[in-house]
Amino acid sequence: MKRRQLLAAGCAHCAALGLLGAGRAAAQAGGVEWAMPQRFARPEIASDEGGLWAMMDREETRLRRSPFVMRDPALRQYLQGIACKLGGSHCQDTRVYPVRTPFFNASMAPNGMMQVWSGLLLRVENEAQLAGVIGHELGHYLQRHLLERLRDLKARSAFGAFMSMFGLAGLVVQMASLAGAFAFSRDHEREADRIGLALMRQAGYDPREAAKVWANLLDEMKATPGGDPSKTSPLFATHPASEERSQTLAALAEGGSGFLGEAEYVARIAPFLTDLLDDELARGQHGETLILLDRMVARRPEGSDLLFYRAETRRLRDAEGDADAALADLHAAIRIGGEPARSHRALGYIHRQRGQTDEARAAFTRYVERAPGAPDVDLIRSYLAEPGTARNDPATS
Ligand SMILES: [Zn+2]
Repeated sequence: MKRRQLLAAGCAHCAALGLLGAGRAAAQAGGVEWAMPQRFARPEIASDEGGLWAMMDREETRLRRSPFVMRDPALRQYLQGIACKLGGSHCQDTRVYPVRTPFFNASMAPNGMMQVWSGLLLRVENEAQLAGVIGHELGHYLQRHLLERLRDLKARSAFGAFMSMFGLAGLVVQMASLAGAFAFSRDHEREADRIGLALMRQAGYDPREAAKVWANLLDEMKATPGGDPSKTSPLFATHPASEERSQTLAALAEGGSGFLGEAEYVARIAPFLTDLLDDELARGQHGETLILLDRMVARRPEGSDLLFYRAETRRLRDAEGDADAALADLHAAIRIGGEPARSHRALGYIHRQRGQTDEARAAFTRYVERAPGAPDVDLIRSYLAEPGTARNDPATS
């Protein structure tokens, strides 16, 4: 496994890995022998596929310039490396773009442009789970499902909408309405699942992790009873998921084992975690966010940052019992140490709401000390100056 990791680490030029992949192109895909196809030649521009590629190329140019693309070279190289471990010679035709938008989504266009959205990066727990999603997308790409779908559609008027599947953030609402028209068929989904598992196996990843991604996502979706998951998860809009799917994936992977890459993954994502959690909080789906954070806290109980975010989510939701639970998390975060300065602001707000002026004052004062340059420091100082809260303290008036 070490050797494979080292190879991937040097995967800026993936041709060498591509050659490696070619030697073990045939793989078991759910009991069916499946051979990885040769690299796809660029289609004739006059053909329907050629037209599709040209449009995807234009989308990709737009994407490259977009402020949403995460430009960190180490992150991009890491994601590209995973696509290369899985995709063999197709790695040379695959370009992975991490996109900062707080929804769970990945897509791959027929011209080789792959997007991995940051809501997905926040949710997967290790490299193997990420490989499960990337492998699934590669499965659609390798079997040219989108092209088939396009030919099925034949509705020219829908073509623009079809293209927008590969556009950027802002199309999430649109995604839901597109789900009916552009969701992959069950057969295509099954095929992509099986190929994804086969690619994971041959790259040495633990195939059992693929099912966990879907199971975790389904858990989150249950936080909104009666809700339409495709509205908050673009991936659900185009890749219909179900308990049955997660169970089938688990059954197909049974008895498998392999590389998890949890420490590697956690280290890669750590520099972005605060931004991604802020984005997640701003999404305003507090029930889903709490299920995610419960899962993250269970994996890293000493994470004072995670405890702060869980407390903040509860404080903002403010359902029955939320304030008490938030207080418990905030006190735990402060006890552990290294808590974000905003922990003290949250504490101040909860005490203020309860009319506990001394506690509110102490917490707000601590926040102002810890984050003197924060954009809301003047607002917090104004709370300290409120009658009944402030007591002639020159340091805060
Ligand atoms: Zn799919």
